[in-house]
Amino acid sequence: MDDATEVEADTGEIPYEPHIGATRQYWRDIVLGVNDGIVSIFLLVAGVVGGGLDPRQVFLTAVAGAVAGAVSMASGEFLATKSQDEVLDAELRLERIHIRHHRDKELAQLREMFAAMGIEGEDLDTVVSIFDKSDRALLEAMKALEFGAVDSERRSPFKAMAFSGLLFLVGSLPPALPFALAVDVNTGLLWASILTAVALVGVGVAKTRVTRGNPLVAGLENLAIAGLGGVVAYLIGSAVGAGPV
Ligand SMILES: [Zn+2]
Repeated sequence: MDDATEVEADTGEIPYEPHIGATRQYWRDIVLGVNDGIVSIFLLVAGVVGGGLDPRQVFLTAVAGAVAGAVSMASGEFLATKSQDEVLDAELRLERIHIRHHRDKELAQLREMFAAMGIEGEDLDTVVSIFDKSDRALLEAMKALEFGAVDSERRSPFKAMAFSGLLFLVGSLPPALPFALAVDVNTGLLWASILTAVALVGVGVAKTRVTRGNPLVAGLENLAIAGLGGVVAYLIGSAVGAGPV
């Protein structure tokens, strides 16, 4: 069956475009993981190339850096996401108590939030009174409106961990791999630079498949932001290196 035609028939002129769905809340991990892998491993190899290592040694350094980075990224993301989850759970426990023992305050808050959405007068009274009828509905409304939380948007600590850790490893490939193949470090660094730039643009472009933005702008933006980070890291590195050691 042709889904697109059916959808078009439903809504007339503009076909219904489905949302991104399940991966939506993990795009920060995806972009962060890949970009972090690309940039930090590139800076690592660029940093040690000047130190007189041969390509194999640079590659081993990159592998060690990639593993360390991925593990640190994954565990950090796991803990961060879990902590955020626990904070929300604690807030919701408190909210249940508020609903039971300070209901008038909660209803006043709900009224304010609906009023801010543009609901007025009698409609406002009606909406608030409907939520007043059910503890569960009131809690769900406060959860969504006061805490900005809905269950479908909650992030699993395990998925966040997997996305950011594995993608850090993927991101480390462009700057690391050339050293596994190159005959000398300068050739390796040249290819690492090229592949790193291509990969950064690629991440920006890939992102527009879900952000529906302009691929060229997003690609160059990613290259520019990460590149700027690289410049800052380089400057700090040389400032430290030039210090009294
Ligand atoms: Zn409350």
